Amino acid sequence: MIPITRLDGQYASLQREIDAAVLRVLASGRFVLGTNVEALEYELAQYLGCRHAVAVNSGTDALVLALRAIDIGPGDEVITTPFTFFATAEAIEAVGATPVFADIDPQTYTIDPRSVAAAIGPRTRVILPVHLYGNPADMGELTALARARGIAVVEDCAQAIGAEINGQRVGSIGDVACFSFFPSKNLGACGDGGMVATQHADIAQRVRSLRAHGAETKYYHDEFGFNSRLDEIQAAILRVKLPHLEGWIQARRRIAARYRDGLAGAGVVLPVERSGTRCVYHQFTVRTDRRDALRDSLWAAGIEGVVYYPVPLHLQRAFRDRGFRVGMFPAAESAANQALSLPMFPELPHVEQDAVVDAVRVWAATALPA
Ligand SMILES: *Cc1c(COP(=O)(O)O)cnc(C)c1O
Repeated sequence: MIPITRLDGQYASLQREIDAAVLRVLASGRFVLGTNVEALEYELAQYLGCRHAVAVNSGTDALVLALRAIDIGPGDEVITTPFTFFATAEAIEAVGATPVFADIDPQTYTIDPRSVAAAIGPRTRVILPVHLYGNPADMGELTALARARGIAVVEDCAQAIGAEINGQRVGSIGDVACFSFFPSKNLGACGDGGMVATQHADIAQRVRSLRAHGAETKYYHDEFGFNSRLDEIQAAILRVKLPHLEGWIQARRRIAARYRDGLAGAGVVLPVERSGTRCVYHQFTVRTDRRDALRDSLWAAGIEGVVYYPVPLHLQRAFRDRGFRVGMFPAAESAANQALSLPMFPELPHVEQDAVVDAVRVWAATALPA
């Protein structure tokens, strides 16, 4: 089987360093929020071009704490995309605010600024774009819309660490940004982890307090917060991996370029990179109106094609009582029916890349009319 991602190769290539880093933590006796977490926060802030980074328990918690840190709560509306992982909207619900969906741009799968403009109302407090599949959302248009109306921008960078717009890294552009270190993300820990990044000292300070039970000074609680601390073992592992991230991004981009060459004219729509952007290819996602047939054909050839995501958020059962209907966000619904992600990870060998290309081409030759 050629899997969508394979995590053991990365560990094998860094095993000595990772094992040594983990053993040092075990011997140190300091397991939660210690020197590795502090150093990781500094190194990630440097990497992103952000003044502050605060490590937390997961990407989901990063979203929740970021929204809480800018005082989003009941009565507030947050405009986001219906074509994302569920956690994006779940975090909005978790702080008591209301997710308002705006449709996506069918070319980039990211939120369409024109739909956002139409969705802005008197209660809109935040625009929350997702850099889906590692492809940057249209931050220029979105920040312009937000700034003109005093609305905050919270970036969901869970799939996009290292992605750039005109040389600027995502996460350094909006008011506050959220990252995930879930193992399968482009920078993955060996467990859960996440981070909030921001240029604003007051937001960073508030997240530091919220992640530790709303206490800036231990046992003196200013508000009701969370237990959302990153542990030292995960931080130590991430610090071993971070210097390799750029190389892994280059490898993903090389694979994407090879897929593009191999799949040109193969009857699938290839991913689009807007000019001036650097996509980090968390996924390489193609689309076709015969998606399920393509997926079945790839699986029969031993290739794991995966649908991210089969049900747009407004049609999820969890939102069934909100009056959403099929047809409300046609671009997102069509993407959910047509998108298929192909195997993509930095260590994917050439022969396996070629096997993926061949399998798509074989499907196209037999399934599509000439
Ligand atoms: C993975 C992901 C999250 C959640 O991150 P976790 O670390 O799994 O909590 C949020 N948003 C998007 C777009 C994601 O892909």
